[in-house]
Amino acid sequence: MNAARNSVERNPVAIDISGLNKWYGSFHVLRNIDLTVRRGERIVVCGPSGSGKSTMIRCINRLEEHQQGRIAVDGIELTSDLKNIDNVRREVGMVFQHFNLFPHLTILENCMLAPVWVRKMPRSQAEEVAMHFLTRVKIPDQARKYPGQLSGGQQQRVAIARSLCMNPKIMLFDEPTSALDPEMIKEVLDTMIQLAEDGMTMVCVTHEMGFAQAVANRVIFMDQGQIVEQNEPAAFFSAPRSERTKLFLGQVL
Ligand code: ADP
Ligand code: MG
Repeated sequence: MNAARNSVERNPVAIDISGLNKWYGSFHVLRNIDLTVRRGERIVVCGPSGSGKSTMIRCINRLEEHQQGRIAVDGIELTSDLKNIDNVRREVGMVFQHFNLFPHLTILENCMLAPVWVRKMPRSQAEEVAMHFLTRVKIPDQARKYPGQLSGGQQQRVAIARSLCMNPKIMLFDEPTSALDPEMIKEVLDTMIQLAEDGMTMVCVTHEMGFAQAVANRVIFMDQGQIVEQNEPAAFFSAPRSERTKLFLGQVL
């Protein structure tokens, strides 16, 4: 993994954020964010609750609108242009803390839904794609069950498979393991590690520092709407520069 980690510097830019500012009403939630993510990079974003991590990654696929600055995904700038928003969302998959599976659809149907309705994929092909990714997250045998019949860890792996069925170039994760019981965290992290090994461009909000150490090219620390510090994991953990980072690491490590 280390060789791969260092070889991304010349890759094309996947996500380009510059001078990003966002307000919720009068509350200044994101302050002058600059962030460039190259293809194949794996970024871990950490920081205290309320620091703007979710807001930042939700801006990347326009689940939140920004007011100032520039966000471009694969060269497509996010503006109010609906065509651009649509094109960006086609490239970006997102996995949330709560899996948001449709409870009345089977696992297989959950995975087939977007390929069939958004991509207009024939059902037989969508089923093949869905089974491929359910196999990849190691739960093909659950395909005919309903979400409520699966454990939290299995449901989250379905959510990952469902995203992958849309063939995203970039995956965003927002605390994908924080709603899970401890014994299920590892199986989800293992799935994410495999995705990283396959070369997926990933931005992951997580406090799983073992995961960060294992796969991240870069760890970003946010506080009060700003990127306070970023570094490759070894340096980030062994020699944090700011007091706020040190304080935070003292709480999570
Ligand atoms: P994090 O993911 O780091 O915990 P968030 O991005 O969720 O932080 O939130 C950052 C800040 O913005 C918090 O103070 C939160 O209360 C506030 N916030 C989040 N969403 C909204 C919203 N839709 N309207 C108003 N304030 C919000
Ligand atoms: Mg959050």
